[in-house]
Amino acid sequence: MNNTPMLEVKDLTKHFKAGRGQVVHAVDHVNFTLEKGKTLGLVGESGCGKSSCARTIIRIYDPTEGQILLDGQDITHMKQRELKPLRRKMQMIFQDPYASLNARMTVRDIIAEPLLAHGIVKTKEQSNEYVYPMLERVGLTKEHANRYAHEFSGGQRQRVGIARALVLQPELVICDEPISALDVSIQAQVINLLKDFQEERGVSYLFIAHDLSMVRYVSDDVGVMYLGQLVEVCESDEIYRNPLHPYTKGLLGSIPIANPRQAREKEKSSIEGDIPSPISPPAGCRFHTRCPFAKPVCSERAPELKDVGAGHMVACHLYQ
Ligand code: SF4
Repeated sequence: MNNTPMLEVKDLTKHFKAGRGQVVHAVDHVNFTLEKGKTLGLVGESGCGKSSCARTIIRIYDPTEGQILLDGQDITHMKQRELKPLRRKMQMIFQDPYASLNARMTVRDIIAEPLLAHGIVKTKEQSNEYVYPMLERVGLTKEHANRYAHEFSGGQRQRVGIARALVLQPELVICDEPISALDVSIQAQVINLLKDFQEERGVSYLFIAHDLSMVRYVSDDVGVMYLGQLVEVCESDEIYRNPLHPYTKGLLGSIPIANPRQAREKEKSSIEGDIPSPISPPAGCRFHTRCPFAKPVCSERAPELKDVGAGHMVACHLYQ
């Protein structure tokens, strides 16, 4: 394995036109690096831009600005035709296993489709050689191959989604809230399956989730996004032990915990109010409208994402 990062995202920006000349600032100048065989968790409330960021990286959306390097190769402006061979290297698992699988296709056809599209097999019959072992690997059986996705539970469907993404042996998998729609009892099974694949194949994951408790077990590093920007990035353990950004502290305060005394303490740091519109994000620090520690400078000047020691990056005037 060489030392080139699996994914480098530099100043990535994605704006959408919203009619009447308005612009949605979905992703603004996001920077991060994902090393090979590692997992970066990307967290934030819904509407913070994490899914737009993931979809821009995988080039479902064209970036407005910035650069995306996949294993050192600049894919920022590649045409879809040039991207096609690289799609083998980079796959996505979607949040909603009900919506992301074609209801008119059998499970075999769903998993075989990318194998046929990339010319790995020429016929559906040949694809069985890949499809059957893959089904078993995700905890399903050969007998499931001829069934349709709607015949399965949510957890089984997500296993089919994982099988489809991993059958190409990708090096990077973008997991867009892969467990959010699943029962809590199934979430751990899916996470363990993803972790097992990582150990076996050295696959890298960009793991999107809306709360920090979901990424704790799976991530090496965690990035916290707020209104299109990264506000804190550090090692996973560090973010739970020593969260710095008031927004991160608020997110941690919103994780349900069993001990009532600890729960009351945590409640004090919960975030109040709604996330502002990304059409006209607040000036300065975008979190200042909800931050209990906001100072005059916070509404005037945007804090930079800076290393405050041992690779712990935070964008907040309290630390600058
Ligand atoms: Fe709060 Fe100011 Fe820090 Fe923003 S920069 S998080 S408003 S203290």
